[in-house]
Amino acid sequence: MSNWRDNLRSIEPYVPGEQPDFSDMVKLNTNENPYPPSPKVRQVLKEFNSDTLKLYPDPSSHLLADAIAKHYGIGTNQVFTGVGSDDVLAIAFMTFFNSEKPILFPDITYSFYDVWAKLFDIPYKRPELDADFNIKAEDYYCDNGGIVIANPNAPTGISQSEEFLKDIIEHNRDVVVIIDEAYIDFCGNSALNLIQCYDNVLIVQTYSKSRSLAGMRIGYAMGNAELIKAMDDVRFSFNSYPMTRLSVEIGKAAIEDTDYYKETIKKIIETREWTKKELKRLGFTFGNSDTNFIFATHSCVNASYIFGKLKEKHIFVRYFNSPRIDNYLRISIGTQEEMKYFIDELEKILSK
Ligand SMILES: *Cc1c(COP(=O)(O)O)cnc(C)c1O
Repeated sequence: MSNWRDNLRSIEPYVPGEQPDFSDMVKLNTNENPYPPSPKVRQVLKEFNSDTLKLYPDPSSHLLADAIAKHYGIGTNQVFTGVGSDDVLAIAFMTFFNSEKPILFPDITYSFYDVWAKLFDIPYKRPELDADFNIKAEDYYCDNGGIVIANPNAPTGISQSEEFLKDIIEHNRDVVVIIDEAYIDFCGNSALNLIQCYDNVLIVQTYSKSRSLAGMRIGYAMGNAELIKAMDDVRFSFNSYPMTRLSVEIGKAAIEDTDYYKETIKKIIETREWTKKELKRLGFTFGNSDTNFIFATHSCVNASYIFGKLKEKHIFVRYFNSPRIDNYLRISIGTQEEMKYFIDELEKILSK
């Protein structure tokens, strides 16, 4: 009788949005950017010397860290890079959350946080958002082992002010406060400057949403040099060469093309505001989204029904069958044409 199963690490994994593959699909389910990455990225791919791939990449990926540091006006030693921000966040959890006290994050937020907490045996508590899906600051004044706040929050799309975050940080100077800014470029009020006054704040961002590079897997964290060094030590105890030569070059080219991304972000915001008006007209309600998605519920038609009907049309949105949000749809913002088609089909479904 073999009993290796007794010592299995069994865990219920995070479930990402599906990646269907239909030529006619409208994919609004994983908050990807509908526009291609910067033309400078294509240039890098064209000129990339594949012979260099026989060598390991630079373990510190300093060319990329330098470019990110320069873009934000901070030091290279204040930047940590990883294989998407999921990788960066996982390492941050491992590095900073080693207390016996529970870490705190909202009951409705990025559904990967509790998976990492379980994976790394970190105790956690999930204070409830209020009825309008806002974070209640007082819930974060208690003794804890660390805090994670997605700002803007996902899947709600709602953001909190810098003053609000500052208040939470002021009450939590003895633990690390992670601010996950995956969608910050669609709202524009990053808390990045807080890393200069608070040595316990880590800002995490990604190339996957605003920079149209979900397929490349590049994320980064910014914080005081000591936090970054601690993350590097954990990283190098795990995998010494996380960033490939290609992702370093592509990441550098993308972050340097500010003008291009300003344009695509502007288009997405315009389409988002158009989509809000149309959804309202069709009887949906939602909080004020500051992201590239809208989290909406309909006054009389069930979300899971709409989700299924859209899917039949190869229009993919995200539905979470979880407490408090099981009558909501999270709709990523596509191109103006895609959203027009989506609204037209949605209107047909609702009128049946
Ligand atoms: C998309 C997302 C991430 C992860 O993005 P990566 O593709 O791994 O960089 C992290 N946090 C939130 C809140 C997200 O929505």
